[in-house]
Amino acid sequence: MTTMKAAVFEKAQLPWTIRDVEIPEPGSTDVLIKIRASGICGTDVHITRGHFPVSPPLIPGHEPVGEVVKTGSAVTHLRPGDRVGVPWHQRNCGRCEWCHRGKPQFCSSVQATGVTVNGGDAEYMVAPADRCMLLPDNITYEQAAPIFCAGFTVYSGLKIAHPAPGERIAVLGIGGLGHLGIQFAKALGFTTIAITGTEDKAPLARELGADDVVVAADDIGKTLMEHGGADVILATTNSGRHMSQAILGLRPDGRMVVMGVADSPIEVAAHDLLGMRRHLIGSSQNNREDLFEALQLVAQGKVKVMEEVYPFDRIHEAYRRVEEGKVRFRSVVTFE
Ligand SMILES: [Zn+2]
Ligand SMILES: [Zn+2]
Repeated sequence: MTTMKAAVFEKAQLPWTIRDVEIPEPGSTDVLIKIRASGICGTDVHITRGHFPVSPPLIPGHEPVGEVVKTGSAVTHLRPGDRVGVPWHQRNCGRCEWCHRGKPQFCSSVQATGVTVNGGDAEYMVAPADRCMLLPDNITYEQAAPIFCAGFTVYSGLKIAHPAPGERIAVLGIGGLGHLGIQFAKALGFTTIAITGTEDKAPLARELGADDVVVAADDIGKTLMEHGGADVILATTNSGRHMSQAILGLRPDGRMVVMGVADSPIEVAAHDLLGMRRHLIGSSQNNREDLFEALQLVAQGKVKVMEEVYPFDRIHEAYRRVEEGKVRFRSVVTFE
């Protein structure tokens, strides 16, 4: 067998086509992975709508996990049968200031899974062996896939805020990122506060581990402050207005970590930042260590991804539901 089924992005605004394409051959430092699960993310919608400068044809999918079936001649640390996932960042230039500082996420020529190189929405994909991460034994492929983007993003955002023991972590937005944020904060032992616009999400937030739920569709910061305020806010919503309001719920030295792409600018008056010494921090996926730790917490059963799972032949339906905002948390396609 030399061909595989793949979802292919061919032109902006058009649905992905399902095609038989050549199974890629791993280079000397690559592995060939038989994909077992691949998550669909909001970023896939941006790619498909043409908001990202990608060159079609492209196989999307930047939350891929599967089994190594073939290794390049120079690969020594991975072997067939290994369960691995591939994060967003693959190769980087290796020559710029940021690569040399050990912060390759800031390299301007990063190759990104499912964006600049083919991703996981296919039966097989190749990836550099040294970028693959081994999966812990006690994690299913379906649970592992969304950790490679959504889980990594949220957990990285939590870590970059450097929460101290006893601090209060609020999670703004209870969706694909936020439901993980609540669980990660709780798993690390912090007092965790969920912020939601509607009362009907409160029971779920408590089930996920929130110690307190702030229900506010407006004046979010003021309401949060009435509940005691937060030292860290994980802003996972896509509402710029909600983020702007929430800043006012930060206690002195509080940090808001922005990790959701917002629909409008974040607005804050200078005097609302300076007196209380509040910080506004942008974050996406930071250290590889964060991905490792996030996977461990899922494998230990402390964090569970809430997801819809579809077989690969229903990938259009899975994608459409993400595009239409009908997926409440995460969506994953699986392969036999
Ligand atoms: Zn993503
Ligand atoms: Zn570089």
